Amino acid sequence: MFVNIQFKNMKILKFKYLFLIISFLFIASSCSSDDDSDGENNPHAENLKSLGTSAGDILSENIYTSLTVELAFPEGFRPLQETIDTFSLFLEERLNKPDGILFVETEIITPSVSTQTISEIREIEAEQRTQYTVGSDIAVFIYFTNAKSDSDTEISKTLGTAYYNTSMVVFEKTLRSVSTTQGFDLFLLEETTLQHEFGHVLGLVDLRDDDIHEGHEDPLHSNHCIVQNCLMYYESNSTQAFRKISSVPLLDPLCIEDLQAKGGK
Ligand SMILES: [Zn+2]
Ligand SMILES: [Zn+2]
Repeated sequence: MFVNIQFKNMKILKFKYLFLIISFLFIASSCSSDDDSDGENNPHAENLKSLGTSAGDILSENIYTSLTVELAFPEGFRPLQETIDTFSLFLEERLNKPDGILFVETEIITPSVSTQTISEIREIEAEQRTQYTVGSDIAVFIYFTNAKSDSDTEISKTLGTAYYNTSMVVFEKTLRSVSTTQGFDLFLLEETTLQHEFGHVLGLVDLRDDDIHEGHEDPLHSNHCIVQNCLMYYESNSTQAFRKISSVPLLDPLCIEDLQAKGGK
């Protein structure tokens, strides 16, 4: 039994819990597609496009030769340093940015609420994001929130959501809760969520119907990879996966070739 909640206009990574009689716990993950954008007349319109539309701009050096990654979080919700360092290496390995990748940390003020909708998250970004795409530098916004997703249920937890071409949220409060209650390594949870969602920002899998490998997308789980040990497999962040692995899943060769076809390394 799966609880499969799908939201239009967003990309969701979630845990799904299935309780059996003997309290056996199973968790899976899934995402839905984003095909919307905002801000035709907004001065930040370049950063308000649909998910996946800036994959080539982020991967290649054709228009943007550098990348700025803004990590935004309320006090006490900064991700682990190991997570940031490893994410930086992941980006360096895949992106062609000869003028560098810069991380900017912004401590933001967020309302004291227990849950947030993606609309509320978009509002916080609009008010408190400080880094936007300018000149030859493209900017990405990653918000680590101290609230849980409003879509969470007893058996389904959202870990992260990519929702614009250069925007994603990590439900840091939920990750810490899962880490504590399930005994999973927080670094592994943070890093896998970050890299998986960023994979969607990079257009995986076939998000804009322009990947080079036809048949590479899982026919049962749209925008996810059919290769079971790939970072972009729909269950890459499942409890069962976390129990078996001690490191973040890698991108398989098909996903890497899709990124390379758009200018990545
Ligand atoms: Zn996903
Ligand atoms: Zn893959």
